Amino acid sequence: MNAVIDLASALIRIPSITPYDKGCQALLIERLTALGFSIVPLPYQESHNFWAYYGEAKPSLVFAGHTDVVPVGDENAWKFPPFEPTLHEGHLYGRGAADMKGALACMIVAVEKFIQAHPHFKGGIGFLITSAEEGPSHEGTPIVLDYLKENDISIDYCIVGEPTSEIHLGDVIKNGRRGSLTGRLIIQGKQGHIAYPHLADNPIHRAIPVLNELLNHPWDEGNAHFQPTSFQISNIHAGTGAGNVIPADITIDFNLRYSPEITADKIQSIITSLLQRHALNYTLDFIHYGEPYYTDNHAFLAQCQKTIFAAIQNMPRLSTSGGTSDARYIAKYCKNIIELGLSNASIHQVNEQVRVDDLINLTNIYYFFMRDFLTR
Ligand SMILES: [Zn+2]
Repeated sequence: MNAVIDLASALIRIPSITPYDKGCQALLIERLTALGFSIVPLPYQESHNFWAYYGEAKPSLVFAGHTDVVPVGDENAWKFPPFEPTLHEGHLYGRGAADMKGALACMIVAVEKFIQAHPHFKGGIGFLITSAEEGPSHEGTPIVLDYLKENDISIDYCIVGEPTSEIHLGDVIKNGRRGSLTGRLIIQGKQGHIAYPHLADNPIHRAIPVLNELLNHPWDEGNAHFQPTSFQISNIHAGTGAGNVIPADITIDFNLRYSPEITADKIQSIITSLLQRHALNYTLDFIHYGEPYYTDNHAFLAQCQKTIFAAIQNMPRLSTSGGTSDARYIAKYCKNIIELGLSNASIHQVNEQVRVDDLINLTNIYYFFMRDFLTR
């Protein structure tokens, strides 16, 4: 069979639910070692991470990715067992096929072909691999970046193999992501009989005008590259279940995907002062999942688009939409970073799958990146 399908299948067969790697990285390391890469394993707590490098220090082109996957969900809803890679009607099925074991296989096979065809290329090739991306991501990529900083190793160009394609392979590359801030607001009231509201204090009623104000708040208008910041409520819980009881409290979970036109600190202070204005008895906790990042080196981005076009005759568009990714960590360390990978149509769903043709074409794209950035 095809080398890419073989490696993708071998990776899918390993149930590496985040943050466990369970041997996926050993497969990658075996292939990279055979090519002459030097390997630095950087495990941290439950996570496995490694840095691998081959060639001269500069310029460096680094492939970044993760070997962990999200849980399978309802296993009975899968057409084929999630950890038994299955070829069916031109698609490869299995958890991680698209996000992102397929792309890891493409990277490895592309590098093997490239080094064979260009043994004296200019610069070097790196791999920054983690098993913590889908879970405790701070135990993964940042640990490797700490190692790079301590050892003065720079990254000139970075491709993160996250599934960015939408309709056709390579139609979208991400050159930025919004930030993500989650909050939990608990408003205290006073429990009582619903027929005696003057003896109680209804926290649901207190929450409604506050939520209304938050929903209508003009956080920002985004900018030419980013959608406006969005406030969304994910969960609301209040009530004892009885129809005649005013509850004691209400819990509201919310999330903001925010643009670089605002900061997490600014959002927190807006929400806090709004709550204080409503004179509530409340607690408010935030978790900051990630800052936004944005790659604005136009020459680099134009070259990326050209390279993809050369490989598959498709001109990708730039996008900053979607969830967070580990690129947000690497972007602090490398100015020239994009995300480019397989189709995101089935990621994190049951029946995750990828077109076999896409695996072959993505291998080609990654090959062209090395050719264009490392052979001049
Ligand atoms: Zn991913």
